Amino acid sequence: MKRNILILGGSSEGFELAERLSGHCLSNDQTQDEFEIISSLAGRTSLPRKPQGAYRTGGFGGAGGLADFIKANSVSAIIDATHPFASTISQNAAIAAATSAIPCLHINRPPWQKTERDNWLQVPSPEVAAETLTNAHSPIFLTIGRLELAAFLTRPELRFLTRAIEPPQKSDPSGLKGEIWPANFTFIYGKGPFSVEAETALFKQHGIKCLVSKNSGSMKAYAKIEVARTLNIPVVMIDRPERPAGETAATVEEAIVWLQQKIAQIEDVNK
Ligand code: NAP
Repeated sequence: MKRNILILGGSSEGFELAERLSGHCLSNDQTQDEFEIISSLAGRTSLPRKPQGAYRTGGFGGAGGLADFIKANSVSAIIDATHPFASTISQNAAIAAATSAIPCLHINRPPWQKTERDNWLQVPSPEVAAETLTNAHSPIFLTIGRLELAAFLTRPELRFLTRAIEPPQKSDPSGLKGEIWPANFTFIYGKGPFSVEAETALFKQHGIKCLVSKNSGSMKAYAKIEVARTLNIPVVMIDRPERPAGETAATVEEAIVWLQQKIAQIEDVNK
C-alpha cells in the first residue's frame, strides 16, 4: 500500500530525503514503492533548487491550512526537514500532525559547538545581536540571510557586509527592496557551500572585524566559522529558536529509519 509522505523542505536534508525516498538509494528495496513523496517549499527564492519527485510551493495558511492539506492529500506522515531557524512552520507541522492524528518527525541537525579557540558571544535573537555590536566590530559580516535584517537597521553608525542568496524584496519583513537599503549595508549574493579559501579572501578584502551568524549547524556554512577562528575575529552567534516537542532525528539516515519503523503504525487518514 502506498503511503503519502509530506516532506517540509528547503534545507539540504529535505532535498536529500526526497532523493532517497523517491529513488534508488533506499537501502531496503522492499520499501521503495511504499512511499509517495511530496516536498513542500516556502517559495522564498526566485530560482529554488527543485526536489526530486513531486513538490508544491508556498505557505499552507497556518496550522489549519496544513491540516486541510493533510486531509485533502491523504498524507500519512510528515517529515519536517526545514531549517533549524524556521520555527513557525515546524510548530505548525507539530500542531497539524496532532490534529490529524498522523506522526511527525522533526529533523534537528546538531548545532555547531564552540571550541576553545573560538571567541563567540551567544545571543538569543537578531535583535540582541544588533544591540551587542560596537564601533570596534565594524565592518561586520552579516550572514543571517535576508529575512531578519531589519534588526540591524537600528545601527546606522556601523558598516555591514551582508550576504544573502538574493536581494531583499518588498515582501520581506523589513518591507525594503534591495536598492533602497541604507548605504551602511553592502550586499553580496551567493549560496554555499563556501570554501575556507574564498571566505578568508572575503574577510580580508573587506577588513571584517566581526561575524554575525545563526547557529545553523550546516557544514556547508561552516567555513566562515573556521576563518573567524583562524583570524581571531569575534563571532556573534545567534542561538536557535525553540523547536517543537516531539520525535526528532539528527540526520537523514535516522529519518529514513524512523519512517521504515512507522510504516506498520501509519494509519491512512482516509480510512
Ligand atoms: P518560518 O518562519 O518557520 O515560516 C514562515 C511561514 O512560511 C510559515 O508559517 C509557512 O506559511 C511558510 N513556510 C515556511 N516553510 C515552508 C515550507 N517548507 N513549505 C510551505 N510553507 C512554508 O520559516 P522561514 O524562516 O520563513 O523559512 C522559510 C523556508 O526557508 C523554510 O523552508 C526553511 O527551511 C528555509 N530556510 C530558512 C532559514 C532561516 O534561517 N529561517 C534559512 C535557510 C532556509 P503558512 O503559515 O502560510 O503555512
